[in-house]
Amino acid sequence: MNRRKSVIVVGTGAGGAAVAEKLQGNYDVTILEAGGKFKPFSLSIDQFAGLRKTGLFLDERMIRLLLPNMQVRKADTMIMVNGIGLGGTTTLATGNAVRADHVLAEIGLNLDAEFEELYSRLPITTEHEKYWNPATREMFRAFEELGFDPQPTPKFLKKEHCANCGHCAIGCPTDIKWDTRDLVSEAVRKGAKLVTDCRVTDLDISGRTVHAVNAWQGLKKVRFEADIVVLAAGGFGTPVILENSRIPCEKTLFVDPVLCVAAVRENFSQSRQLLMPFYSRHDGYMLSPYMDYLSFFFNKDWRHPMKDLVSVMIKMSDDSRGTVDVGGIRKPMTRADHARLGDGIEKSLLVLERLGIRREEAFLGTLNAGHPGGMLPLTPQTVSSMHDPSLPDNLYVADATILPRSAGMPPILTIMASALRVARAIKEN
Ligand SMILES: Cc1cc2nc3c(=O)[nH]c(=O)nc-3n(C[C@H](O)[C@H](O)[C@H](O)COP(=O)(O)OP(=O)(O)OC[C@H]3O[C@@H](n4cnc5c(N)ncnc54)[C@H](O)[C@@H]3O)c2cc1C
Repeated sequence: MNRRKSVIVVGTGAGGAAVAEKLQGNYDVTILEAGGKFKPFSLSIDQFAGLRKTGLFLDERMIRLLLPNMQVRKADTMIMVNGIGLGGTTTLATGNAVRADHVLAEIGLNLDAEFEELYSRLPITTEHEKYWNPATREMFRAFEELGFDPQPTPKFLKKEHCANCGHCAIGCPTDIKWDTRDLVSEAVRKGAKLVTDCRVTDLDISGRTVHAVNAWQGLKKVRFEADIVVLAAGGFGTPVILENSRIPCEKTLFVDPVLCVAAVRENFSQSRQLLMPFYSRHDGYMLSPYMDYLSFFFNKDWRHPMKDLVSVMIKMSDDSRGTVDVGGIRKPMTRADHARLGDGIEKSLLVLERLGIRREEAFLGTLNAGHPGGMLPLTPQTVSSMHDPSLPDNLYVADATILPRSAGMPPILTIMASALRVARAIKEN
């Protein structure tokens, strides 16, 4: 009898969970995950907000004391955020489930079938509008009056009514927000093996074949062999594993920078709401109501009670310029990036003005980013095989690293659709 082939999948975020769950059954899948169980922020925000005055929260990297699964690093002028642990960065996501595959359609990749599969399997809804608070309704009207065409954001919600605590990006305390931990559990239920606290370092390669994956499990060096290896350690993780394995990536990192424009409006209580309840698209960026926890805790201008803050987020598409390697992340903002950001700030100020706030009263948040990708981009030549020629024949990448450029929009659904296509390519090859 033929032996079933084995696959190692590295990472349990958007790409890793999707590809592992899809392949288990046809293959014997082992999932290697650097972190462990996700722990949401479970303390009172107000209690911690009081500590801001003590100067205790000096550096954004300290957020890890409050939220151990959130990895925060500094790169040039930006704070970089990603999730480490089961579910990857999807546990920190605000649950936006938008289709942003125009960047893949441009290079000839049609993912309609994969999106159909995801829509039929995942709990995605826009039916949260009836639970919006007065602040969100007022902001929605302001966007409408400005002709910004706001749209309720499709959300990954297991029940349409959440607790409206606003904690989406620091871990949903009620488990109503869906993330990829459910897919990992499903893969394990079907027989996949999950190894947590296992940080992959590099691959043993000879000729055009990967023979083994090397990792640290605590203080122990471990080695896993498989017929096929799929890297999905995220836009910051996969390029480093490849570089350690002598496969250089391109210096085309994008991150979708985020900046909030905020002001004080007493008792506005925008934060007691599903984050990013609606969004509006503009040339090169999107705008959406968002309470930025990094700015709230670490930016001196934000030392106001959360209930008194109003905040509009600019999430923009950035030029593919930057890199990550063992030495760290480098991400310079280009002139075009600054121009897009300036335009976003101007439009955000118009929103605040509609809410009765003078532009001199507004202040900016901390520039940060959490959508890294693009360092081994798919091209028109590789979309049919979903395999980059620089990789050994039995090595695939199935995370944001393969996206061809920044969409300036939430990418989870699009990364998952691409990962499903990678799974299909593996089966067909
Ligand atoms: C605060 C925040 C909010 C966001 N909100 C949204 C949203 O609402 N909607 C949306 O679409 N997108 C959102 N995003 C972005 C989205 O979460 C990420 O773009 C997406 O999860 C990336 O998927 P990925 O598979 O590339 O990587 P990840 O989801 O980051 O997964 C990478 C996985 O690899 C593991 N890993 C890393 N290195 C190693 C290693 N060496 N060995 C083994 N395992 C490793 C990690 O622990 C992780 O499990 C948000 C991001 C942030 C930071």
